[in-house]
Amino acid sequence: MSRPMLKVVKFGGSSLADAGQFKKVGAIIRAEEGRRYVVPSAPGRRFANDTKVTDMLYGAYELAEKGADFTQALQNIKDRYDAIIRGLGLDYSLDEEFRIIHQHFQEKAGVDYAASRGEYLNGKVMSAYLGFEFVDAADVVKFDEDGSFNDRLTDKEMHKRLTALEHAVIPGFYGSLPDGSIKTFSRGGSDITGSLVAKAVHADMYENWTDVSGFLMADPRIVENPVTISTITYREMRELSYMGATVLHEDAVFPLRKEGIPINVRNTNRPEDPGTMVVESTCNKPKYTITGIGGKKGFASITIEKAMMNAEIGFGRKVLQVIEDEGLTFEHIPSGIDTFSVYMNQKDFEPHEQKIIAGLHRSVYPDMIELESDLALIAVVGRGMRRTRGTAGRIFAALAHAHVNVKMIDQGSSELNIIIGVENRDFETAIRAIYDIFVLSQL
Ligand code: ASP
Repeated sequence: MSRPMLKVVKFGGSSLADAGQFKKVGAIIRAEEGRRYVVPSAPGRRFANDTKVTDMLYGAYELAEKGADFTQALQNIKDRYDAIIRGLGLDYSLDEEFRIIHQHFQEKAGVDYAASRGEYLNGKVMSAYLGFEFVDAADVVKFDEDGSFNDRLTDKEMHKRLTALEHAVIPGFYGSLPDGSIKTFSRGGSDITGSLVAKAVHADMYENWTDVSGFLMADPRIVENPVTISTITYREMRELSYMGATVLHEDAVFPLRKEGIPINVRNTNRPEDPGTMVVESTCNKPKYTITGIGGKKGFASITIEKAMMNAEIGFGRKVLQVIEDEGLTFEHIPSGIDTFSVYMNQKDFEPHEQKIIAGLHRSVYPDMIELESDLALIAVVGRGMRRTRGTAGRIFAALAHAHVNVKMIDQGSSELNIIIGVENRDFETAIRAIYDIFVLSQL
């Protein structure tokens, strides 16, 4: 008999917000023998205006730093855990843990220590609930003295510790510095821990359980009931998340990319849904020509016109140097004959506008500089586009039909995306038009 697939399962905050959610998680874990390593987040929101435990911890620690009384703030956090413990019917107490945390807050153990307790305590409760061993992330997730993450040491420590265990709970989001003090990843960082564990134990799959059934083809606030993407490559995901569609923490991808370990994004509230598979590469043909549509508003562009710019050595570098000297980054640099445009984040650009114009006049002597603001960029992403003729034609026909004026077109050399610049006010109409032509008219 072949062994069951070895899976690392990470559960996000909303999947662990209360006892009811914990029970769903317990059922999911017990449903498959191979779900041996569990990475929990801290309890998230139970309802729309609720506060995540991580944010409660930041708040309580702020009081502690100021020397104010944080006892009640910490008690409110304890109440949330106690309600979970009671709801699960566990004979388990966090009294001693909270006594230690109280003391460390008083000693000002640091904001990272404070924030990390959400995952730490949830790991403790989860371990008591499942009967799995608790492995403190501080022992296996390692940072260097300068605060940078040490992937090799982490992989080594994790591998040694976890492969010796049949089952384990490893809290997400934090690790430790060489002096033993706690350091967290950036917000949403439990996703990273999950992927590190998956790599270290050589899992067959990293399941990331959240409150959506995977990646959607478009933003559901713009498109009604968008289709779920069944398989997406890491590169496609990177392009879409760059354009605003975030389900997984960006850095969660890097440990797994070269390992051939797929990520399956699943919904704790709808475990029967297959979710989205995120893979390095696949011969799985997407159902539609495009995989997804992402986009962001709020760009400004500078277009520089100068006759014969193509004959001028270093023209592009000089333009970008002006931007660099202002400490700004650029998003896109579409160019034409005798024109060159730079798209930048409008908010970042505005305070530097006049200096950039002056800098450009000084360094490249343009014939004309034209500024535009309130622009949006839309990325149409899909590995299927490479094989298909007429994708661009269909996009632009759809946009023309919807009376959207296209300001810029940029097909990445990866042929994985086409980026379109439109005015902010056309953003939603454009996305709907593209979705309609590729998805709805295919049904
Ligand atoms: N609890 C942390 C946060 O709220 C980390 C995580 O959930 O991944 O950002």
